[in-house]
Amino acid sequence: MSVLNSGLVKQLTLSAGFHSVGITKPHLLSEHLKTLQTWVSAGFKGEMDYLEKNQSIRQDITLLYPEVKSVLVTLLHYDKPVSFTGDTPLGKISKYAAGTDYHLVIKSQFSELLTSLQQLDPSANGRFFTDSAPIFEREYARLAGLGWIGKHTLLIEPRKGSFFFIGILLLNIELETDAPFETQHCGTCRACIDACPTQAIGEDGHLDSVKCISYQTIEVKTPELHQDVNLSGWIWGCDSCQDVCPWNLKFSELPEPDVFPPDLSLLSFNEDQLLSLSENQFRKKFSHSALTRRGKKGILRNFWHNKSKNTKP
Ligand code: SF4
Ligand code: SF4
Repeated sequence: MSVLNSGLVKQLTLSAGFHSVGITKPHLLSEHLKTLQTWVSAGFKGEMDYLEKNQSIRQDITLLYPEVKSVLVTLLHYDKPVSFTGDTPLGKISKYAAGTDYHLVIKSQFSELLTSLQQLDPSANGRFFTDSAPIFEREYARLAGLGWIGKHTLLIEPRKGSFFFIGILLLNIELETDAPFETQHCGTCRACIDACPTQAIGEDGHLDSVKCISYQTIEVKTPELHQDVNLSGWIWGCDSCQDVCPWNLKFSELPEPDVFPPDLSLLSFNEDQLLSLSENQFRKKFSHSALTRRGKKGILRNFWHNKSKNTKP
């Protein structure tokens, strides 16, 4: 029997730098897989073909790590002060991308956590992911008691909001689980639906990714965007639906210290400076940033698209 228990594991998780943590078991998510398949068939996935792959893993995460006994779900907040508007000379960028790439930060925190767990119990082991494996992360966060899925399809943590990254640690240790979050607190609110510049959020709670600015700026790989696409001044991601959510307006927490302080060298870049860098120079200079995912070309494509349509946020 392991010396590790839920309380101790949670304490070590918070010491590793995460802001919230919940624990659940692996679940067979057949209904979620069916909903995803229906959504894909309706054409909402756009170019995200990866959503059609690894369906058996998506349904059953024990296929990712057969030894898994407990699923630890972590949240790491990245909200910014009101003074941060995301405006850059090239256009608006989402808050999540203003600092260091979250994959790097969360990976390092999970490594530290796993080391601490192994110091107490050398048989402890696990695999961790953040947006890097076919896992229904939001549903696991709900099952771990962390919050509910809002009408904008993102997880909302009561009294903290939705501006956070979700991390998953599959552990080979049996731990006491948290009760799933069973209630939904959107009520009659529809602020996100009304604020979405492209009407991407359906009345029935589905998200049409093809209409979503976040999808268009980040996931679409073509050299040019379709002329009908409206980016509404954004060049990377979009926060419009989260910015109006009362749970963010009232409760969102500013991480102290900010693990993702805005990178001013990145945010001050203009068109000429970007053009003066080769693709390699750009990737090297900003290798710590999530914005390198589509390279310099991706950012310029989005900037020029806004410029051609004369769209300002
Ligand atoms: S991210 Fe932007 S475009 Fe996408 S659903 Fe939210 S408000 Fe709409
Ligand atoms: S804006 Fe309103 S409807 Fe949308 S997620 Fe927030 S509380 Fe729910």
